[in-house]
Amino acid sequence: MNENSASASEVHDAFDREHLWHPYTSTHDPLPTFKVSEARGCEITLADGRRLLDGMSSWWCVIHGYNHPVLNNAMKEQIDRMSHVMFGGLTHEPAIELGKLLLSILPPSMQHIFYADSGSVAVEVALKMAVQAQNNPRRTNFATIRSGYHGDTWNAMSVCDPVTGMHSVFGSALPVRYFAPAPRCGFRDEWDPADFEPMRKLIEEHAEELAGVIVEPVVQGAGGMRFYHPQYLRELSATCREHGLLLIFDEIATGFGRTGRLFAWEHAGVEPDIMTIGKSLTGGYMTFSAVATNKRVADMISGGKAGVMMHGPTFMGNPLACAVALASTRLLLSLDWQGRVKHLEALMASRLEAARKLKCVTDVRVLGGIGVVELDHDVDLARFQQECVKRGVWIRPFGRNAYIMPPYLAVTDEQACHLADTLVALIAEGYA
Ligand SMILES: *Cc1c(COP(=O)(O)O)cnc(C)c1O
Repeated sequence: MNENSASASEVHDAFDREHLWHPYTSTHDPLPTFKVSEARGCEITLADGRRLLDGMSSWWCVIHGYNHPVLNNAMKEQIDRMSHVMFGGLTHEPAIELGKLLLSILPPSMQHIFYADSGSVAVEVALKMAVQAQNNPRRTNFATIRSGYHGDTWNAMSVCDPVTGMHSVFGSALPVRYFAPAPRCGFRDEWDPADFEPMRKLIEEHAEELAGVIVEPVVQGAGGMRFYHPQYLRELSATCREHGLLLIFDEIATGFGRTGRLFAWEHAGVEPDIMTIGKSLTGGYMTFSAVATNKRVADMISGGKAGVMMHGPTFMGNPLACAVALASTRLLLSLDWQGRVKHLEALMASRLEAARKLKCVTDVRVLGGIGVVELDHDVDLARFQQECVKRGVWIRPFGRNAYIMPPYLAVTDEQACHLADTLVALIAEGYA
């Protein structure tokens, strides 16, 4: 056996290929997967010893880098006390301390926290909160904007972009929501009041059927990697208030500094009624999420038909997840995260700029720790990733968007430049 085939069998596992489903993959000729043995800082080590510089933060999560001693210790200490106890009738220090810390950094009107298991579940809980709070059998539907992404469970899917999302597969099984066009005015463009008019019209026409509106504030993540104008959110907030709709901000991707503010609502200065957080909440250590809301919504739910919030996952408030979320958030707040993300933003913007002159590139945009190169065609993922791994970086585009968002509190200048330069080179050489 020559060296190449030996390493190939180490990083491409036959059992995995035959029996394990990966995100959005077929069992017939699935995309190749690379076997990881460990990860440290910004580096992922493959089973054959090769090291990859991480440009993905494992999908928005790993802000401090992998294998962080502070986060490791928080989990080890907690695991020696208890990994889990039910949250029905019991409570514990990690849940309480995390709750206090989150309320000190979330929008000031947020007063109540519901711990959930994943981002998608948080979105389900947020939608349920809005319906329960309205307490009106006619006001049960939702409006949103196109190009959004809110997760893969049933109701979360229903508010994802109807074209790039899963509506074509699940069709009439999904509740029918109201979609306004995606905002066109970019984050740094001059505000054009016409941008909000379709949403205003939609709300005016359907307010009597709507419990609320759900959007990702400022940054639309997996639905298109788009950055829109904060004024859109101010208009949306005023219009929701006018019509008695509850405003839900899904900050599962945007939270914890990624966009340059601790949470993206701060770009607009308008507070939602309900807010979801997840992903980097635990620094990428565990699946965990939270839904926060204000006293008014909590009172509406508690004074409504059921009188209680009708949700209670088995692993609600899991102590391990709370402990690592607490450690991650404390660590984040102790660092100059804002300086770091600003610096990374400038670095990525200057390095990715070179992609703008490439023929197949339609846009280059950077906000906070997110750098996007949009192409005029879908990337051939298998070919692109093969070449990425050859060059020692981990970047996973989707559709027409090739993007980098490294662990922003761990990545060095040199690593960030290398990621950006490699992405530009891969596109220039026709691998994307
Ligand atoms: C990832 C994401 C979700 C879903 O979170 P999961 O933990 O994958 O269920 C929901 N909303 C937004 C904005 C996301 O980025």
